[in-house]
Amino acid sequence: MRLRPRYIRDRLTLWYVGIFAIVLGVYICGACVLQYWQLMNELHRAEIQELETIEGLLYFAPDGRLLLHQDYHSHPQSRRVLDDFLEVLTPGGQVLLRNDRLQGMDLGGAPAPGEGDVGYRSTRMRLANGAPVLAISHLHILDGKPLLIRLAYGTGLIRDHLFEFLVLLLLAVPVALVAAGVAGYRIAGKALNPLEEMARRTEQITARRLSERIPIDNPRDEFGHMARVLNGLLTRLGESFEKLQHFTSDVSHELRTPLAAIRSVGEVGLQEDHSPEKYRDIIGSMLEEVARLTAMIDTLLTIAYADSGEVELHRTFFTLNDLAQEAVAVVGVLAEDKKQTIFLTGESRFHLSADRNFLRMAVINLLDNAVKYSPSASSIRLRISDAEKSGDGSRFAELAIEDDGPGIPEEKAARVFDRFYRVDEGRTRDAGGAGLGLAISKWAVEAHGGVISVKPRLPQGSVFTICLPAA
Ligand code: ADP
Repeated sequence: MRLRPRYIRDRLTLWYVGIFAIVLGVYICGACVLQYWQLMNELHRAEIQELETIEGLLYFAPDGRLLLHQDYHSHPQSRRVLDDFLEVLTPGGQVLLRNDRLQGMDLGGAPAPGEGDVGYRSTRMRLANGAPVLAISHLHILDGKPLLIRLAYGTGLIRDHLFEFLVLLLLAVPVALVAAGVAGYRIAGKALNPLEEMARRTEQITARRLSERIPIDNPRDEFGHMARVLNGLLTRLGESFEKLQHFTSDVSHELRTPLAAIRSVGEVGLQEDHSPEKYRDIIGSMLEEVARLTAMIDTLLTIAYADSGEVELHRTFFTLNDLAQEAVAVVGVLAEDKKQTIFLTGESRFHLSADRNFLRMAVINLLDNAVKYSPSASSIRLRISDAEKSGDGSRFAELAIEDDGPGIPEEKAARVFDRFYRVDEGRTRDAGGAGLGLAISKWAVEAHGGVISVKPRLPQGSVFTICLPAA
């Protein structure tokens, strides 16, 4: 089982202490190695000095024995030499002198080839009794005879000293780790405080209080960024929630009218006896309302699909010319009924990669509105053109639909694409609209990366424009 602290604060503290312990460990190792290296260097230098002193103290006695001046008053250094390990050999390996401290042990055995020829050769070794020493050798000429002088200092003291140093450092480690833990815990707590505050505030925000926001202390730090992201999310949620509420109340309102009409027509029919023709009339008008209801529910379903993002676009290649012609053919019948003429001018060179059905629906809705809201015997003009953006060279195909209807006041232009929005309630309801056609057109155009807009036309009428990116 893996033990993992539950709280970030504890985890941060552990990480902090862990990293601190590693750094401390590396520091202690580094300090010990450095200390050892410095002490050994010092020892080496001291040995060289000592060896030079010894060279000055050596002499051959009249009987040919090699001796060391041990007269303290004339050679005060000689006392110290007695504490070191000293061995003097001939290059052939014959021992000429060995001091008492060596107690008969040798200091490295037979001379190695070239030992001490150049400078001072230094070697780490153990004596026969196991004592560790640092030895240096040097070839010295005395009275014309070559002598190999070996001098060694015990390194046991250095090891003891290092051990003491290490123990001293290690004793401080638990204290340092506890201090680091306490400091780390406090720092982590301080750093996480704003997060806890944010969680507390967020917890209080319910569907009814979506207008509340998380306070931002410092917008530039990470928590400020997070609070801004959460506030952005709340704004979007609030907007969606509001839209949903409007949508639900609009739908209920829109459904109530045809249902009330069906009900009252039915009630009138039941009140007294009628002729079969009258009954047929009554049933006919009830069916008309049912057809309206069905159409509205179909449209609402399309909108619901569009909202959920589940609509899949089946893209094919076609031009705006083909699409406009198709839409004109569909709506032409309605225009003929009102003795209106539809003109289609211009053309597009660009192909679109788009869902033909959705875009056809978008154009038909615009054209249908133009027919619906324009006076009889007027004309409706469709203009197709191409446009190219100078900045990034992106290309667009554009379709403008112009009519001579009542037009849309500029202040209402932005809202005509909203669901259930009607510029003139009474007039458009009579014309059979539920205020959903433009909302669907807008969705279809935007789903293809396009833009839909409306402008008033002078002296009368409106111009709806669809702008779609070329494939
Ligand atoms: P509807 O089904 O009511 O026509 P739309 O979404 O298609 O719904 O249009 C929304 C409203 O915009 C309409 O109710 C109407 O008031 C206004 N409108 C749309 N097209 C035109 C137009 N060509 N001329 C004048 N008003 C229009």
